[in-house]
Amino acid sequence: MQAKSIQALIAKRSHLLAEIPKLTQLLHGSWIERYSTCSRKDCKCHQGQRHGPHYCIVVNDDGHQRQKYVPKAMVDTAKNGLAQYKRLQELVKQITVINLAIMKENAGNENR
Ligand SMILES: [Zn+2]
Repeated sequence: MQAKSIQALIAKRSHLLAEIPKLTQLLHGSWIERYSTCSRKDCKCHQGQRHGPHYCIVVNDDGHQRQKYVPKAMVDTAKNGLAQYKRLQELVKQITVINLAIMKENAGNENR
């Protein structure tokens, strides 16, 4: 690999890093949809037509799983946040590959 290739890798890395500040809605969790019954004994929910779906995100809070309720108006925002987390993971993966390649190339240069 030549210095020119390193420049290309650094340029690609800059491009990937520039995406991270845009991931402002980022959420790390799992999406779940729940159905529930209420306290009214005569309600249809007790005959099988349960209320819902109610949307939740399961997050890890110091090793404890916690369900965070997502208001209907925030469903798109929350789903976008989960997608942004996946994108962040992908960016980290790609930047790792680039940094390993740059390290390898730089170590090779020292031995010349
Ligand atoms: Zn009910």
